[in-house]
Amino acid sequence: MAIAENLLKIKNSLPENVTLVAVSKTKPVTDLMEAYTAGQRIFGENKIQEMVDKWEQMPKDIEWHMIGHVQTNKVKYMAPFVQLIHGVDSLKLLEEINKQAQKNNRVIDCLLQMYIAEEESKFGLDEVELHNLLNSSTFNQMKNIRIVGLMGMATFTDNQNQIKKEFTHLKAIFDTLQKLKTENCELKTISMGMSGDYPLAIACGSTMVRIGSSIFGGR
Ligand SMILES: *Cc1c(COP(=O)(O)O)cnc(C)c1O
Repeated sequence: MAIAENLLKIKNSLPENVTLVAVSKTKPVTDLMEAYTAGQRIFGENKIQEMVDKWEQMPKDIEWHMIGHVQTNKVKYMAPFVQLIHGVDSLKLLEEINKQAQKNNRVIDCLLQMYIAEEESKFGLDEVELHNLLNSSTFNQMKNIRIVGLMGMATFTDNQNQIKKEFTHLKAIFDTLQKLKTENCELKTISMGMSGDYPLAIACGSTMVRIGSSIFGGR
């Protein structure tokens, strides 16, 4: 009961243009099914094998989002079904996604993960790397991927000003790319905001929030 209640409370609080990704990593299928029964159709996982296992067991109208760091050699396992890959942070990874998507006769939507935090440990591209990637001929020739937006994670801190600064930075980068429209690139989505900071992320322009513990409880 708690899961459905949490889910609906959050869902009803979100503006219409904001998509909710229910982050279900480490949680059992029974918990995910409770959210599914309450109407949720988008789930986020951070480990490919776990996502594949859950995809196999659950209804096929679910959209599966990969929100974690992706190892190149595991892309093939999710390529048949993954709906959106949030954490793309290299051309090499994008090439592998393109290759595996082609094998599956698909076009896979991706977000480029930007490095916006002050911590050392977070993955992501800086602005120079972002522009190099988008301007490379390798990228421009890819036909089986589509860049549909950016993703970022703020520093893990209680300092709201710091978090706000980082989200605002991501939104500013996103805005500079609005003019960019090619066959495989059109930025519509900003994935930012988790349980602890999603209201702030939305205030800063997020269109997709990734919420786990506030729906499913602690991990
Ligand atoms: C786990 C995770 C989340 C959700 O975190 P909560 O604090 O549980 O809401 C969001 N984004 C990413 C990339 C994650 O790994």
